[in-house]
Amino acid sequence: MQASGGQQPRNCVSCGRAIAWDANVCPYCGRDYRVQMMAPAQAQPFMSEGVKVILYILSFLIWIIGIIIGVIYYTKPDQESKEFGKMCLILAVLGLVVGALCGVFAWVI
Ligand SMILES: [Zn+2]
Repeated sequence: MQASGGQQPRNCVSCGRAIAWDANVCPYCGRDYRVQMMAPAQAQPFMSEGVKVILYILSFLIWIIGIIIGVIYYTKPDQESKEFGKMCLILAVLGLVVGALCGVFAWVI
């Protein structure tokens, strides 16, 4: 990385490529930095409640999906994603236990 004109190069947080320090938009992936600079306190909109409920149900019914979604969101830095990921993991485990119990009963009977 070479600094030119006293400006530090930086890497796009989205695609990781070096972009101009004062670039408003990443020329490679199109990530818009103006939004971030103008409203730093404004968190990016999280998924709607409806989508959350659908994913909760999916997590419960198909535990592998819940585990995947849960791990993806639980590793994210923001609190809302963490809570959502944790909930998906819990529901996935519940779904797994219920599914296993049903399987055991079906096998016994
Ligand atoms: Zn980029």
